[in-house]
Amino acid sequence: MTAYDPDNIFAKILRGEFPCYKVYENDHVLAFLDIMPRAPGHTLVLPKAAARNILDISAEDFADVARGAHTIARAAKTAFDADGITVQQFSEAAGGQVVFHLHMHVIPRHDGVALLP
Ligand code: 5GP
Repeated sequence: MTAYDPDNIFAKILRGEFPCYKVYENDHVLAFLDIMPRAPGHTLVLPKAAARNILDISAEDFADVARGAHTIARAAKTAFDADGITVQQFSEAAGGQVVFHLHMHVIPRHDGVALLP
């Protein structure tokens, strides 16, 4: 697998070199709004530690990211009065990944409303 690139955009956000709309943070994860949301409240949850994707992180450390996604999902349900939540994670280009710092998408959903393209 390709090595982690510390110049990826999410690494820059984590270092404070690039802005984001932060919605949650703890010792292990940062969560911020997606710049091209597929629905209102579309949030990305990522580990603070360098990890390219799910293939590049221990199960234990991934559990911290999953716990962060759980926190965001519960908060988004209330904040956006959502009927449901979509959680996605893409690993490697073949898996649909575009930014190569691990992240989970948490997307509030409403009945009958399709995701934006
Ligand atoms: P993925 O790697 O999961 O396929 O997609 C990367 C996601 O990151 C996309 O949903 C895209 O809109 C989002 N994204 C890319 N660049 C930025 C950025 O600079 N800031 C924020 N907040 N989101 C970004």
